[in-house]
Amino acid sequence: MTKDHKMEVFENYESSVRSYSRSFPTVFQKAKDYKIWDTEGSEYIDFFAGAGALNYGHNNEQMKEKLIDYISEDGISHSLDMGSTARADFLNQFNDVILKPRGMDYRVMFPGPTGTNTVESALKVARKVTGRDQIIGFTNGFHGMTIGSLAVTGNAMKRKGAGIPLSHAVSMPYDQYLEAADSINYIDQFLQDSGSGVDLPAAVILETVQGEGGINPASAKWLKGIEKLCRKYGMLLIVDDVQAGCGRTGTFFSFEQAGIEPDVICLSKSISGYGLPMALTLIKPQYDQWTPGEHNGTFRGNNMAFITAMEALNFWKDDALSQDIQEKADIIESHLTRFAKSYPALEAQQRGRGFMQGLACGVPEYASKICEAAFENGLIMETSGPKDEVAKLLPPLIIDEEGLLEGLKIMETSIQQVLNK
Ligand SMILES: *Cc1c(COP(=O)(O)O)cnc(C)c1O
Repeated sequence: MTKDHKMEVFENYESSVRSYSRSFPTVFQKAKDYKIWDTEGSEYIDFFAGAGALNYGHNNEQMKEKLIDYISEDGISHSLDMGSTARADFLNQFNDVILKPRGMDYRVMFPGPTGTNTVESALKVARKVTGRDQIIGFTNGFHGMTIGSLAVTGNAMKRKGAGIPLSHAVSMPYDQYLEAADSINYIDQFLQDSGSGVDLPAAVILETVQGEGGINPASAKWLKGIEKLCRKYGMLLIVDDVQAGCGRTGTFFSFEQAGIEPDVICLSKSISGYGLPMALTLIKPQYDQWTPGEHNGTFRGNNMAFITAMEALNFWKDDALSQDIQEKADIIESHLTRFAKSYPALEAQQRGRGFMQGLACGVPEYASKICEAAFENGLIMETSGPKDEVAKLLPPLIIDEEGLLEGLKIMETSIQQVLNK
């Protein structure tokens, strides 16, 4: 039995593309809420949460019950985009709990079930609606691994993997990327000037907090500035809320505090609430100009994901979770700020907001070393940023204070071990 559960099986049989089984070299067996256990019985606190796909933790009890009931009653499991009770119930619940209370009017599109699927659909609809082909992406942005999404992604290693020229996209400086200049004025100048070499784009796509790119938060002022440029030049504003959405920053959508109104919103990762594949593209009604079937896919609308998603949305019927996230986010922020100060050898800085924060190390190697030591000490966390220089914290939103403090303590112990080596 245990023979089948050794790491060798992945080394022997799986493609070299595997990555997380290298960072966390063990075989996981069981998980509940914010904890995971491996086959050796070791317990880990999960500050990774499926890269943001498990905002409500592992195997939430209510979601699990609803899912088991649905399956045992022979509920529809696959139905492309045919009408199903699960699909109807989800659409009603999403409108009632999320869109209507926020005064948001969007059509809900189900692209394929992953983040990159919603991004591709957003880029396509923006090109179709405007008749333009360029898209503005940002430095250190990450939008997925298919060709269209890669074209608006910053990371050189990931871009190179495409194997072909990535086109019809232009990269512009994100908030704080330029030291000396204001990126809004810079972009404005390129778009104004017929000699700049930049054609008027169909859309701008951005993350309000860049996840993979190093936990870079954009200010509300910058986001408003970008929105203004979009209106000025007739570009659609696409917010990729795949990682920062579903409560990660403290509100359901990450842009709520900024008060901007995107034309298209991409959601995936935690929308199903249970780690089941699911994605949504929200489109302002006037831009929902698809002809039937113009964008499709076999797995549009994962009925089992609809069942758990409906249950997950119950968390947003009042602001209790939101307030709880804000309070615990302060704990994370004060700890990271203290770590940066107490361990000057890291040359580190606290970054990010809500439950999307990190410790950016001026000496980049330290971030990976901290994550490696953390794993040894029973804490799962990963790095992000172009040089993997950020030790990134994405705890499940439902973690209790005890678990959060325990995880932060393990992180501090790991920092001390790394520095003492
Ligand atoms: C993870 C992520 C994606 C891609 O999602 P996949 O499900 O991996 O295709 C896109 N955008 C952002 C911001 C992400 O964090």
